[in-house]
Amino acid sequence: MHYQTRYEERHQPLDETGEAEMINSFEPSHCPFCGSNEFVKNGFDTNGIRRYKCSCGKRFKPTTGTIFDSRKIGICEWIEYCLNIFRYVSLNADSWNNRNAISPSKYWLEKLFLTLENSQNDIVLSGIVWLDETYYSLVLRDRIRDENGNLLRGLSRNQICIGVATDKKHTICFVEGFGKPSQKRSYETFKDHITSGATLIHDKEKTHKKLVEKLCLKSVSYSSSDLKGLADSENPLDPVNRIHCLLKMFLNAHSGFCRDEIQDYLNLYSFVINSPSDHLEKVEKIINLVLENPKSLKYREQFGLKS
Ligand SMILES: [Zn+2]
Repeated sequence: MHYQTRYEERHQPLDETGEAEMINSFEPSHCPFCGSNEFVKNGFDTNGIRRYKCSCGKRFKPTTGTIFDSRKIGICEWIEYCLNIFRYVSLNADSWNNRNAISPSKYWLEKLFLTLENSQNDIVLSGIVWLDETYYSLVLRDRIRDENGNLLRGLSRNQICIGVATDKKHTICFVEGFGKPSQKRSYETFKDHITSGATLIHDKEKTHKKLVEKLCLKSVSYSSSDLKGLADSENPLDPVNRIHCLLKMFLNAHSGFCRDEIQDYLNLYSFVINSPSDHLEKVEKIINLVLENPKSLKYREQFGLKS
């Protein structure tokens, strides 16, 4: 009985959590099966969640086809999980080292990744934009060696290139490939994310040449010798350097992660450091993303196939 009570405390029946009311407050704009907006209210399910019936004959709920579909845990638990992840990502450097023990459920993390997969698509930077690349290593067993068995040195194919740009209001982080990016790669990565005519503060490498030309950016560039010996506060690239530093700490905290998923980690990082800064407002944004863009991830799809 003791166990049962504890279990029920932690896993409230879905009809007692109050989440039906929250889910019902979301009014679907179209049928998830046929896209039509010709549907009518059609009672409630056993958990009190509103059902709709569409002119195509199908019935659905606000959660149909989303990652909340056929869930066994309440959305309030999902909210708690998201809050933990946000706090974890946004922890400052001092408290970071002690927190590696947090081990989020991989399945829930995948659901969060799926929800955020397009979250950076609409971010466009303007005014003054700081842009710089940083690099993150492949896991050791995947690193390429030369004919003598030595790891390739420098900015080789063993380094994942991450392009980071910020206008201090928004920040974007994208994988640009392996090793030093070409002008074309850099242009393709950022062309939809910086307004034309903006001022670009960057390094004196040729990497951003095409981007600057095509978007008619005002280029302010610094060579590494210009920056040598400067204190962080005097370094003109400091706004983007600081993001590199925090991003690396975040990635290092998950250092064994599968590098194929690095863009998902960057999307999560970007979501957490961008506005709204209030964590509960972030949760609200996540829930709206989930309900407005049905995408499902079934446990079996995630772990059955891969194993
Ligand atoms: Zn329909």
